[in-house]
Amino acid sequence: MLNIHEYQTKQLLAQAGIAVPRGMLVEDAAAVASGWQALGGELVVIKAQIHAGGRGKAGGVRLCRSLAEAQAAAEALRGQPLITHQTGPRGRVVRTIYMEEGLSIAREFYLSLLMDRDAGMPAFVVSAAGGMDIEQLAETSPEKILTMLVHPVAGASAYSLRRMGFFLGLEGDAFKAFCRVAGQLYEVFMQYDASLLELNPLVLTTDGNIVALDAKLSVDDNALYRQPTIRALRDINEEDPREREAAEHGLNYIALDGNIGCMVNGAGLAMATMDMIHLKGAEPANFLDVGGGVTAAAVREAFRLLFADTQVQGILVNIFGGIVRCDIIAQGLLDAVADGDGHLPVPVVMRLVGTHEEEGQRMVREAGLKVIWAHDLDAAASSIVEAVRAAEVA
Ligand code: GDP
Ligand code: MN
Repeated sequence: MLNIHEYQTKQLLAQAGIAVPRGMLVEDAAAVASGWQALGGELVVIKAQIHAGGRGKAGGVRLCRSLAEAQAAAEALRGQPLITHQTGPRGRVVRTIYMEEGLSIAREFYLSLLMDRDAGMPAFVVSAAGGMDIEQLAETSPEKILTMLVHPVAGASAYSLRRMGFFLGLEGDAFKAFCRVAGQLYEVFMQYDASLLELNPLVLTTDGNIVALDAKLSVDDNALYRQPTIRALRDINEEDPREREAAEHGLNYIALDGNIGCMVNGAGLAMATMDMIHLKGAEPANFLDVGGGVTAAAVREAFRLLFADTQVQGILVNIFGGIVRCDIIAQGLLDAVADGDGHLPVPVVMRLVGTHEEEGQRMVREAGLKVIWAHDLDAAASSIVEAVRAAEVA
């Protein structure tokens, strides 16, 4: 999934005819000053551009009523980590600041399009409770949310757009404007092969306009080959460097917040392994499915990635070899260790069973590596959690 920044998404929306607040990137105090003039000199909003929501509550969206206030807000955010409920405890460093005209808001709505995996087609999700966390709203007040499937051949019907407008209690020009925006939003969603296009909030201003106040676009990785516009908007600062490196080696890797590194074959087994680590009272540092056709070179890169990750205090290798061969995993481990100082940098528990298991286990033993062997997943998870705790105490 590739995400782009709010200000970039708004540019794409504006190109499609959807109203967004006027705004500009502000690189320094002088840019804030000229922007302040250009935006009318009354009320501006300084917005931290990071690929995570919840910025408002975290202080990343600031309404400013004077130039000095706007400059102070921009400088307070710039270069600092912003911690929201979506960023994880370390937060994201704010590198880009966007400044917008402040609007006078009458009502805030939630409007998004996403790919409904169960129905196998896009769906609108709409609610009159805008600006709220939609997952939370779905749990506490599902009746406040309307979902409308869109058949991709038929497109967004006038009926479904109107139904959403009525659901929001809109009338007159605002109703018409909403229907038009929702239809245009669907066009943008399809044009960019989006998985999610979310306006939270879409607002009705006190002077009667429907404006996208916040915008988020996520595009399916599998479509990027035909989405040059989106590819050009990629911001690698927002991507986890570990995930980027793993992707370059064709590894299916997702960075997480725990301290137990995982190397597993098969997505299901990887999920089960993570659950088991959790059950034993620790947290996984990553999801890693090395896949079936993995090479020793890719396994070597995977181990190098885990060894280099200062967050990783122990590694659980859980290989149930079918197509993947245990000797290939062993070879990758030996190569990665040889790339370092010849020792395991952290405790490693190995469950290495299935195709060529004797060979794989023999290779590790003969190399003199002090791995902790385990026969089943339960024991393996217990062992790595204990080993990490013991290492912490020592
Ligand atoms: P998020 O917290 O990351 O989702 O950031 P948003 O862009 O959604 O902003 C959070 C909240 O700030 C919105 O729900 C609005 O209530 C408020 N806000 C943002 N821009 C404006 C504006 O121009 N005028 C007013 N009055 N409020 C705004
Ligand atoms: Mn928002």
